[in-house]
Amino acid sequence: MATEKDEKKKESPRTFQAPKGMHDVLPADQVYWDKIGDAVNELARAYGFGRIETPVLEAAELYNKTSGDESDVVAKEMYTLRTKGGETFALRPEYTPGIARAYLEHSLSRLGQPQKLFYVGPVFRHDRPQLGRYREFNQIGFETLAGPNDPIYDAEIIEIYVDLLRELKIKDFTIKVNSIGCRVCRPIYRKQLTNYYKNHEEELCEDCVRRLTTNPLRLLDCKEPSCVKLREKAPNCLDKLCVTCTEHFKAVLEYLEEVGITYELDHRLVRGLDYYSRTVFEIYANGKEAEIGALAGGGRYDYLMETIGGHLTPAVGGASGVERLIAVMKARGIVPQARPPKRVFLAHAGALAKKKAFALLAALRAAGITVSESLAKESLGAQLKVADKEGIGIAVILGQKEIYEESVIIRDLRTGLQEAIPQAKLVDEIRKRLHG
Ligand code: AMP
Repeated sequence: MATEKDEKKKESPRTFQAPKGMHDVLPADQVYWDKIGDAVNELARAYGFGRIETPVLEAAELYNKTSGDESDVVAKEMYTLRTKGGETFALRPEYTPGIARAYLEHSLSRLGQPQKLFYVGPVFRHDRPQLGRYREFNQIGFETLAGPNDPIYDAEIIEIYVDLLRELKIKDFTIKVNSIGCRVCRPIYRKQLTNYYKNHEEELCEDCVRRLTTNPLRLLDCKEPSCVKLREKAPNCLDKLCVTCTEHFKAVLEYLEEVGITYELDHRLVRGLDYYSRTVFEIYANGKEAEIGALAGGGRYDYLMETIGGHLTPAVGGASGVERLIAVMKARGIVPQARPPKRVFLAHAGALAKKKAFALLAALRAAGITVSESLAKESLGAQLKVADKEGIGIAVILGQKEIYEESVIIRDLRTGLQEAIPQAKLVDEIRKRLHG
């Protein structure tokens, strides 16, 4: 027989949680997001990048062809779905292929070269959630497409991320750079690397045995202890660069030095995606926060457009994870200052005033003024407490007397000084006080 407890259990509705590895961003965290958003917009303006937004869904094949079938991002982590129409789409696991697709689809090259584009938005990877590793996270990206294959653009992309970290007050980080060569020199290096690893095949992990034939460069990227150990003695790709790639890389480093950016050469840095050529970079916080993972990474991808039907198009870009930036800021106690609220608080005293206040609220909003209120509270004191909590400096107060006089009180909540002004002048007066 069902007990009362069983019945209750049956009745209680199902509860829900955010999907594993995905997060709600609550109001308390918005200061970080605002700060990062402002910094990114400001940098984009300063460096001349225009914002681009692409759909969250793209044809899954776009990523197979560009990021590479063998990359972890595509092979293991991509969320794919089949539509009722039978198409296979993927939730974007990264932005670059979608941006290249948009560049070709809209013939953006006609708008001038290079095209400098930036984006901020969510990406999805079905990874094992852990510190700094989520299934939904947000990327900030800067991409310089087309124009000459000039090392100055590689340096500029790295410089932007350095500026971003500085702006966020994240000091003490390491920039790792490498060059993985071009079509001419990379096959030679790849062969040498394959020969090296073939001699140690029995010590490789299962994945790397497969990669040895599909993409040997990725062996340098493997985190399995036995593969990490083998990496120590693996041939150095910088020794194998052709003259043009050597010159290009040297110039990137010189440009970085020119703007006082210090870097570390890391000849094992290959990055996890297939489309890179020449310069690659990653930036890590130093100390304990290194565990959070790379704060930014990217590189040159001159051949990507060709793989999706375009011409050879020199391009370089990078991306940074917003959640990781916030994780470092929090770990280091960096709290951005909240934006001073550019708004007023509307309060009322008495039932009739409440009705009028409702209309005044609409009028203020229609004039583009951001207004907070707590009109459901009857006591003026209780309403003003809300204003105080929200950090608002100006209150507009409407009482019985003001209704008859068609006036309104403006009170400076910091000094307590107040004055009555005609309602007709309210909008002008507030604009003056908020922006003056
Ligand atoms: P990637 O394309 O993997 O180099 O990613 C670019 C940046 O996105 C990294 O440098 C990180 O800051 C961030 N990122 C990558 N994967 C994750 C993840 N799973 N969770 C949070 N942030 C990530």
